[in-house]
Amino acid sequence: MKRMMVLMALLCAFDAFSATPECSPPTDPAYQGPLFDSMAQTDQFLDGESAIKTAQANGVTGIALFARVHRKANGKSLVQKLAREYPNFIILGAPKLFDMRYDLDSSFIDDVLTGVAERRYAFVGEILYTHGDKIGGEETSSGERYIDPMRPGTAKLINGLKNKSVPVMMHWEVYDWVRDWPKFDQLYGEFPDQIFVWPHLGFGSADKVAIVLAAHKNVWATLSKKELTNANLSDDEKSGEIGPPVVDQCDVLQPEWKDLMIRFQDRLLFATDAHKEGRWKQYEAIVNRWRVILGQLPPDVAKAIAYQNASRLYAK
Ligand SMILES: [Zn+2]
Repeated sequence: MKRMMVLMALLCAFDAFSATPECSPPTDPAYQGPLFDSMAQTDQFLDGESAIKTAQANGVTGIALFARVHRKANGKSLVQKLAREYPNFIILGAPKLFDMRYDLDSSFIDDVLTGVAERRYAFVGEILYTHGDKIGGEETSSGERYIDPMRPGTAKLINGLKNKSVPVMMHWEVYDWVRDWPKFDQLYGEFPDQIFVWPHLGFGSADKVAIVLAAHKNVWATLSKKELTNANLSDDEKSGEIGPPVVDQCDVLQPEWKDLMIRFQDRLLFATDAHKEGRWKQYEAIVNRWRVILGQLPPDVAKAIAYQNASRLYAK
């Protein structure tokens, strides 16, 4: 009996290794039209010229770009240079700071409002409100970077942007939904004329994303990184709260995500979120993968998400 069980266990293990994914690739033709990359960022180490050439060679007609500013990284002068050299291709956003905690720094708010007034920034690059530590990233003592959107800095920033048509990217991941959703719900509701962009749909499930987008018409979202199997969170508990990718292992768009993309087609945005060197190097592959995903949507919806929404969002 015991030998039988051992044999069964071995057979099961063998089966698990030899298993092919239970899926087949999508049959719809890939989306071939233009794309606007609604969110990308960089430090100073990128070969900007060749990155732009790669994007253009892959049918990308523009990029909303902002700098990463960190203790070891500062992409400000590179993105400013690229924005000067490619004025018709790059939409420049206010930089992303990694070291703000609990509330926005006054110096950050001042820089954003000055840059907007001088027409240097067309949007505010992502602010890390709720950001769990990532594998290979900085380890914080609390396991996350956290800015409370109810502290006074955020209201000060949004009030300063009144009537300016400057979208603000607020990165918050859904792993502490009970703590964070009520706060963002309140914030989005208090500023109905401000457009908030939610990067990566918060890595949420289709159900949670639908709650947010249905509640607030002023919330838009990028689809960047939602093709990936996980959010790369280093904490397993947080990972467990994160939603699944929009596709299966064969890149077939999942029905609940297809429905969601159709339902909120006028506020969803294609984006690569190329950020560190590794993802910039995969730029072509990311674009091609998204062409396959977009090809599974009705053509009008694919076009809206690929570039039309972005042209409305970033129109001045
Ligand atoms: Zn992000």
